[in-house]
Amino acid sequence: MKKLIFAAAVLMLLIPLGLSAQKKPVIGISCSIDGSTVEVGMTYVVSVRKAGGVPFVIPLTTSEKEIDEYLDRIDGLLMTGGEDVSSLLFNQEPSLYQGEVVPNRDKYDLTIIRRAIKRGIPVFGICRGEQCLNIAMGGDLIQDIPSTVPDAIQHRQNAPRGHASHTISIEKGSLLAKLLGTDSAAVNSFHHQAVGKVAPGYKVTARAKDGVVEAIESADGKSFGVQFHPEGFVYSGSYEFLPLFEHLVKLASEYSSRK
Ligand code: MN
Repeated sequence: MKKLIFAAAVLMLLIPLGLSAQKKPVIGISCSIDGSTVEVGMTYVVSVRKAGGVPFVIPLTTSEKEIDEYLDRIDGLLMTGGEDVSSLLFNQEPSLYQGEVVPNRDKYDLTIIRRAIKRGIPVFGICRGEQCLNIAMGGDLIQDIPSTVPDAIQHRQNAPRGHASHTISIEKGSLLAKLLGTDSAAVNSFHHQAVGKVAPGYKVTARAKDGVVEAIESADGKSFGVQFHPEGFVYSGSYEFLPLFEHLVKLASEYSSRK
């Protein structure tokens, strides 16, 4: 009997130890570059941490070998916002309203996404990150909303990042609707481009009232993106969009346990 009690006590000690030994998934975060400085907003870093992941900034490179070495070490991928993407990458001539383009970052973003998805690494794209996800998988963009979308609303808000400025309608039954527990939401908005033709295997899961695409997801739910900035809300202490990051971390845990 004493032996049994001892064995039970040992088990009770070991089980929580075993659980805590399971490592948090590592979430690669894409960066931007300013001169010779790699940059990532703390908003993204804080959101990944808050969701239970370990943030890992992926330095900018156009080397596929280096990108593979980084991908070896991550369990999930968060693609961040930034500049316009070169229209040549989705077979369009540039709009008169094309903004700053960073060719090396274009190559870096599209290569990371394609190689991550090939490996089964889950991908969450935000703003430019969502647009790059769509381009990488064969879709294209609306290059400039004000000059091309009839009756467009304002998608470049003047309010701070933690504040909503327009509403979106969310597709019932989509991953996004499930994660947020709603079919409508108010979001922030800092873009003049948006997803145009959706990549094969992906669907639109949210639109603004002027029809502009605000979210996409893949049929298998392992890659998804939003045009708004959920990290801006998380960073300012509002957690209604934290489930998006938590979902990435959950998928990353699953990927990690299959590795
Ligand atoms: Mn918007």
